[in-house]
Amino acid sequence: MKQSKIKTAVFPNRYIQGPGAIGLLPEWIARLGSKALIVAGKTALREIVPKLEKESPQSLMVTGFGGECSMKEIGRIAETAKNADCDVIVALGGGKVIDTGKAVAHELGLKMIIVPTIASNDAPTSAISVVYTESGTFDHTIYLKNNPDLVLVDTEIIAKAPVRLLVAGMGDALATWFEADACSRSGSLNEAGGYCTQAALALARLCYETLLLHGAEAAENCRQNKVTPALEKVIEANTLLSGLGFESGGLASAHAIHNGLTRLAATHVFFHGEKVAFGTLTGLFLSDSPESLIDKVYGFCRSVGLPVTLTQIGITVPTEEDLRIVAEGACVDGGFIWHEPYEVTVDRVVEAMKKADERGRMYLTDKPDSAIDF
Ligand SMILES: [Zn+2]
Repeated sequence: MKQSKIKTAVFPNRYIQGPGAIGLLPEWIARLGSKALIVAGKTALREIVPKLEKESPQSLMVTGFGGECSMKEIGRIAETAKNADCDVIVALGGGKVIDTGKAVAHELGLKMIIVPTIASNDAPTSAISVVYTESGTFDHTIYLKNNPDLVLVDTEIIAKAPVRLLVAGMGDALATWFEADACSRSGSLNEAGGYCTQAALALARLCYETLLLHGAEAAENCRQNKVTPALEKVIEANTLLSGLGFESGGLASAHAIHNGLTRLAATHVFFHGEKVAFGTLTGLFLSDSPESLIDKVYGFCRSVGLPVTLTQIGITVPTEEDLRIVAEGACVDGGFIWHEPYEVTVDRVVEAMKKADERGRMYLTDKPDSAIDF
């Protein structure tokens, strides 16, 4: 068997999306098992769970999420599920709730239903959980045996969440095509442990095109809490296309630079997707992209309100030392940046970040009104 020729693509077993889709949850719990434990984030616990409990024909067990996807929290929830003989785990909330729910289902071998309440990340569809220490620093990644059995996305719920979360999701999704393309060109492995299929590349490309076409309109619709065709398309891009694209396409410089940026405490209050967006902008300069592409991507970021400068992700006075810390963090051994098809050095990453920031500042000065202020 020629290992280097093996391609892999992975998918959740079922993806359902639409306004009011959460109404299908009781039916799906019954189809997949007999007793579910719902792990709910704070907002979901307050605003969604009471209605679910009232309308569900079967009794539901609910536990509030403790706030961090840590081994301790995974252990606590697994214990609750085991003691109550649950056979389905429902993760209802944001990225950390989802990662925790996935890890519990994986550990106990239970069915896994994911109900994201925001579209800020691409966690819902993947077979990956990112685990943190109890104090919130990255600890390790769990590669799960299976992707979720069901991802259930209620677009009315997502439309009610703050628009900044949808926009952050677009930042994460923006990287998908660039990174899948890089992995495909360099012959790097994807996050499913194989090489890129045509399907993954096509989905990643569709993700990018959907954002460019519908991103600004979707942000506006979300601001008014309106479910529209544009918002539906962008929620699908942020959740399904970005999720399938990153896992079966692969990760590269945008996420590597994101990881480097997290070494600076000033960036911690910003969302994952906001930092990934700056990683994508930096990647444009690292790869010597044509001006037309640079202009298109900066224009998109401005149109939806994604950050285009270092200041906008908390690094107000970027020193040479700061940039070097980020670049070294991006260039760790075995990191995603080595999936790029061109030569990468710490110096080149520093230079590219400077250029990305400089271009971003130019955009803010030249076209200050092209988007809502970040
Ligand atoms: Zn990401």
